[in-house]
Amino acid sequence: MAVVKADAYGHGAVKVASFLNELGIKAFAVATIDEGILLRKKGIKDDILILGYTDPSRIGHLIRYSLTQTIIDYDYAKRLNDDGHSIKVHIKIDTGMHRMGENVNKVDKIIKIFQFKNLEVCGIYTHLCVSDSRDKEDIMFTERQIKSFYSLLDNLENNNIILPKVHIQSSYGLLNYPQLHCDYVRLGIAIYGAVDSVGDKTKIQPDLRPVLSLKARVALIREIAAGESVSYGRTFTADNDCRIAVIPIGYADGFPRNLSCECGSALIHGYRVPIIGKICMDQLIIDITNVPEVKQGDIVTLIGIDGSEKIYATEVADDSKSIANEILSRLSYRLKKIYI
Ligand SMILES: *Cc1c(COP(=O)(O)O)cnc(C)c1O
Repeated sequence: MAVVKADAYGHGAVKVASFLNELGIKAFAVATIDEGILLRKKGIKDDILILGYTDPSRIGHLIRYSLTQTIIDYDYAKRLNDDGHSIKVHIKIDTGMHRMGENVNKVDKIIKIFQFKNLEVCGIYTHLCVSDSRDKEDIMFTERQIKSFYSLLDNLENNNIILPKVHIQSSYGLLNYPQLHCDYVRLGIAIYGAVDSVGDKTKIQPDLRPVLSLKARVALIREIAAGESVSYGRTFTADNDCRIAVIPIGYADGFPRNLSCECGSALIHGYRVPIIGKICMDQLIIDITNVPEVKQGDIVTLIGIDGSEKIYATEVADDSKSIANEILSRLSYRLKKIYI
């Protein structure tokens, strides 16, 4: 199941889902009903599961667009059922994350959800909250989550319930607990190739490479004399005469502002150069003193590969105290997407 929420983590949900659909992927997950409706309108005909909450007032849309809704707890199931229209659902089970899902121990309630006549239960799933960690305690916690989920499934079967599709793992769930064999894996960040590729952190390490690059062209080059400052706040003052390039990408494009002042870097002509001064809403500035061949219009890479240098989204994320998921999903509508 390809997770294409948040505009496919910034990659463009319609393009990504259509492409994966052509490759044979038959199940998709989104966070909201409107993300699901968009995919339907753009021609995705296979299963679309909404992972988040949908207001019961929108049951009409669930039916019209044939979307599958996650049941987030017993009371929600009852409300949807009482509406009187038949809909497709997956039941979410809370095994310890305590975000969404009916409590794994409330077996009676979960059985009742299966018995609601207007709910066609097509799936049952849980979500792991520390599956990315190789820490001993986190592994123990995850194993308890998995065990409690499977004992619920046994319990349901003992109550004559025919199990629907079962799923547990997201990206790190697959990479660290590959021994689980469910009907689906809900893969998000891994399909975009942006998992942590530094170090041997995960149990299995398939050769995942990022599919996204973030690039811009040099807008302007200028000479700065020693003692002059650059950008808002005058945080950068040149020690020596230097040469800088102005790049038309800023924090409104989703590039983190806290990479200002040499916390972040960019690639140009195969060299890594620092981002200097404050990153602005629409522009940022790099120091190209050591790369004299740079000229207006040259390509600058903020995420991606240039020669032997690379900047992965995970690195941008680390430097800005975030995770690749956030960096990618916040890349904004203003960036022009080019698919190769
Ligand atoms: C976002 C999400 C996923 C995908 O997570 P990744 O770590 O990006 O693979 C899977 N399941 C649920 C419930 C989610 O919300």
